[in-house]
Amino acid sequence: MSEFFAYRNGELYAEDVPVARIAAAVGTPFYLYSAAAFTAQYRAFAEALAAVDPLICYAVKANSNLAVLHLFARLGAGADVVSEGELRRALAAGIPPQRIVFSGVGKTRPELEVAVAAGIRQINVESVPELHRLADIAAAAGRTAQIAIRINPDVDAHTHGKIATGRKEDKFGIPYGEAVAAYRLAADLPGIDPVGLAVHIGSQIGDLGPCRAAFSRLAELVVALRRGGLAVRHVDLGGGLGISYRDEAPASPAAYAALVREIFDPLDVALAFEPGRFLAGPAGVLVAGIVYVKAGPARRIVVADAAMNDLIRPALYDAWHRIVPVREPAPAAPQTAADVVGPVCESGDTFAVARELPPLAEGDLVAFMTAGAYGAVMSSTYNSRPLVPEVLVSGDRYAVVRARPSFDEMTRLERVPDWLGAGPPRRQEAG
Ligand SMILES: *Cc1c(COP(=O)(O)O)cnc(C)c1O
Repeated sequence: MSEFFAYRNGELYAEDVPVARIAAAVGTPFYLYSAAAFTAQYRAFAEALAAVDPLICYAVKANSNLAVLHLFARLGAGADVVSEGELRRALAAGIPPQRIVFSGVGKTRPELEVAVAAGIRQINVESVPELHRLADIAAAAGRTAQIAIRINPDVDAHTHGKIATGRKEDKFGIPYGEAVAAYRLAADLPGIDPVGLAVHIGSQIGDLGPCRAAFSRLAELVVALRRGGLAVRHVDLGGGLGISYRDEAPASPAAYAALVREIFDPLDVALAFEPGRFLAGPAGVLVAGIVYVKAGPARRIVVADAAMNDLIRPALYDAWHRIVPVREPAPAAPQTAADVVGPVCESGDTFAVARELPPLAEGDLVAFMTAGAYGAVMSSTYNSRPLVPEVLVSGDRYAVVRARPSFDEMTRLERVPDWLGAGPPRRQEAG
């Protein structure tokens, strides 16, 4: 819990709004975000790094809702995007192109064309073939694309294997040993202006040791390139700063900033950062209703109306989310073990196993905490479950910032071919 999601008068509030009130109006499940919490996370990051005058490029993939992007745009953030769709979202939210960087190992020709036409700050190139393709595109458009070479520093971030990105066997970046040659090639290619280097070693990093290793290698490379007569103006240090889901104590922004300054203050480079989880994770929860409580052979099984399609992190990453009853349990309420599951037909649709929880009954509401990052963005319509609404609270106001689609909206793009001999799709009778 936090100052933005806390009990008051026996019930959970998001800022100044009772969560149950929103649930009654919107229906469960839904994502619930706190504008003040996004703002507090952004300020904490920005203030810790103020001395290096950082460009903070919010990693859009963590939570790409347009309202969230507008909020970060108003705070002065740039954006780190990984697809044309994210680039369009960032531009639509009013983030200036000069504050947008484009990362990703598989940027397609159309994606690069859009990025070049938009004149974004920097394309973080992850391979030599990408460099050649970009040179073609920029030359054809009569433009010069600013690029950074994303290096693979061969550093293990000691995080979950699925979100470690800086080991040499990972698909990301140009191998450290090949970076000087790639940079020189970039300088020689028409339409390309190499402005610097980028690195991103993974997500939910707890300990700064791997960052120190990666940043040090990057700094050595800056020196080597300059010694070779190549200009290096930008260094982009990626995202990855961890947050506390349970009882982890990840490195603080202050400790991270101290490390950054120690390594990069001597180099006179413009520093950019790509935080995603740190800015968005603590600012959101997933609110669900309890459908049934059944007696399992080992312990009670609490069936929620949210499922793995709404929040896939437990199934995909073995992630742990705190589960909080919306009605505050009495201080003396007994805590007993429960499995908290969703309704999807897979055993992987399990949010928690043997979790100590107070009594829960049908119709009760619970909140899965710390779900503002990699929650709604990773949701799907598996089992033909509609995407859940997203709601943003600010003070005593709230707004639905993504609506729940109707059945017709969910199936609107599907067609039954004539040769199946079917007529137009039948609409469901209302009521
Ligand atoms: C995912 C990603 C980020 C954001 O990572 P967080 O752990 O959410 O801060 C930043 N940069 C790149 C290139 C990424 O792929």
